[in-house]
Amino acid sequence: MRIDVLTLFPEAFMPMLRIGVLGRALEEGLLTVSLTNPRDFTHDRRRTVDDTPYGGGAGMVMRCEPLTEAADSLIGVNSLEHVVLLSPRGRVFNQQVARELAGLRDIVLICARYEGVDERVSQQLVTDEISIGDYVLSGGESAALVLIEAISRMLPGVVGSWESVETDSFFHGLLGPPQYTRPPQFKGDNVPQVLLEGNHAAIRRWRRKEALRVTHARRPDLLQQLSEEDLELLAELGAELPTPEKENE
Ligand code: SAH
Repeated sequence: MRIDVLTLFPEAFMPMLRIGVLGRALEEGLLTVSLTNPRDFTHDRRRTVDDTPYGGGAGMVMRCEPLTEAADSLIGVNSLEHVVLLSPRGRVFNQQVARELAGLRDIVLICARYEGVDERVSQQLVTDEISIGDYVLSGGESAALVLIEAISRMLPGVVGSWESVETDSFFHGLLGPPQYTRPPQFKGDNVPQVLLEGNHAAIRRWRRKEALRVTHARRPDLLQQLSEEDLELLAELGAELPTPEKENE
């Protein structure tokens, strides 16, 4: 997969692109991330990328030309079929969206700054707007990094074992179960016995049950599409399923 990022601050990406799982994926060519600076597509001496808003008001707005020219410069390496603007007004990013984007051959991520981009960039170039949550950042760079990390984990071969992706929170629509490592005893707290015994069926069931427990406690809204086994486990937990809201009562 190829990800092209349009950003005024390409240097902000470098440290994160070098480390850990993502760094290795890039090194092995499982994913390509390329950074393009719209400022390189300005034609005035001061290399201006923003201007004051029509109608007045605070702040500056990113101009159309540097962004669209930067995007045009990608023709031939990127299909420009999926151009995502990072924006607090976009649809909210989650694991499902990460999987959806990971299925694409290429995408462009546009990181805005200031008060955002001229609306005509959205109309003419952008195919999707994504927000990473209901708060306002000063720029799209950290949001783009969030997308890149989450998407990369969904690409085949990036995370060493697919099993570890599958046990991640949200993969099966639940929060992940607790994990333990050595020592078996720490300041009086023991690792649950089932994890020490090597009965894989029992371990799988225990993990599922613990995932249901934590999801029920913290994010009951995620408890949808439950299997027979899930309902059984929840009953064992003595958990009450959230009752669907009754209409017009
Ligand atoms: N005035 C704008 C906010 C501009 S913040 C508004 O109210 O909608 C500057 C830029 O930071 C945005 O254009 C966007 O690219 C990025 N940004 C801010 N918050 C974000 C969020 N929650 N998710 C994704 N990108 C965000």
